[in-house]
Amino acid sequence: GQRLEGKRALVTAAGQGIGRASALAMAAEGAEVFATDINMEALSTIREANHENIEIFELDVRSDESVSAGISRAQPDVLFNCAGFVHHGTVLDATDDDWDFAFDLNVRSMLRTIRAALPGMLERGGGSIINMSSACSSVIGAPNRFIYGTTKAAVIGLTKSVAVDYVAKGIRCNAICPGTVESPSWHDRVDALGEQLGSKDKAMEQFVARQPMGRVATAEEIAALVVYLASDESAFTTGHPHIIDGGWSGQ
Ligand code: NAD
Repeated sequence: GQRLEGKRALVTAAGQGIGRASALAMAAEGAEVFATDINMEALSTIREANHENIEIFELDVRSDESVSAGISRAQPDVLFNCAGFVHHGTVLDATDDDWDFAFDLNVRSMLRTIRAALPGMLERGGGSIINMSSACSSVIGAPNRFIYGTTKAAVIGLTKSVAVDYVAKGIRCNAICPGTVESPSWHDRVDALGEQLGSKDKAMEQFVARQPMGRVATAEEIAALVVYLASDESAFTTGHPHIIDGGWSGQ
C-alpha cells in the first residue's frame, strides 16, 4: 500500500523493537522515513530491509543540539517519539537519579522534539505527532513500574496539551499505550526477572499471565497503529491515548 505517500516521518529509537518495526512499516506505506537512534550498530541493520526510502542517522533525544539538527534535516510531517526506558521497582526503590533519567528520556525528550518540529509542521499546514506512552501509565498501574508508569502518564498529559493547543491548525497529537510487546529490551527484563525467580520460564509465565490473550504483542502489531495514526485515515482523532494491550486494561 501507499497510505503514507508524500509524508516525511521521523522515528526516534528506531534501532530495535517498536521504533524499528514502525520505521519499516511506514516505509512500506510509501513514507520517506528518517530512522534515528543512539545505537548506530542496531540502526544500520535496518538497511538489510532494503528500503530505498529509509535514511538513518544518529539522534540522541536527550540532547537539544542533536534533536534540533535531526529535525532540521528531516523536516518531518510525522514525528514518532518512541524512545523510552523501563525502570523496575516500587516508590521505595526509586532513586532520584533514576527518576531524573527516566523523566529526561521518556518525557522531556518529547518537549525537545516537538518544540523543534512543530514550527515546520505549522508552516506546511499540518502534521501528526505520535508519542509513546504505555498501558502502564494513567490507564493502569503495573507492579514494580513506579517511575516508568509515572513518566508514561506524563506523556498522556503532554499529548493532550499539544493536541488542544494546535487542533485548529492542522496538527494532531496522539499517544499510544501498548501492553507488553516482544522487543530486545523486553527480553532483557524477562532475563532479569528470571534471575530473581530462579527460572526464565517462570519469568516468561508471569509476563504472559497478565496478558489475557495468553501472549504478548509483536512490534509489528504496534507498528500498524503507528501507521494508522501517521496517515490521513486517522484525520479525526487527536489528543487521545490509543490503548493496544491485548485486553490487559479492558477487563
Ligand atoms: P527497546 O527498549 O528494545 O529499544 C529502545 C531503543 O531506544 C534502543 O534502540 C535504544 O538504543 C534507543 N535509545 C535509548 N536511549 C536513546 C536516546 N537517548 N535517544 C535515542 N534513542 C535512544 O524497544 P521497545 O521495547 O520497543 O520500546 C520502545 C518504546 O516503547 C519505549 O518508549 C517503551 O517504553 C515503549 N513501550 C514498550 C513496551 C514493551 O513491552 N516493549 C510496552 C509499552 C511501551
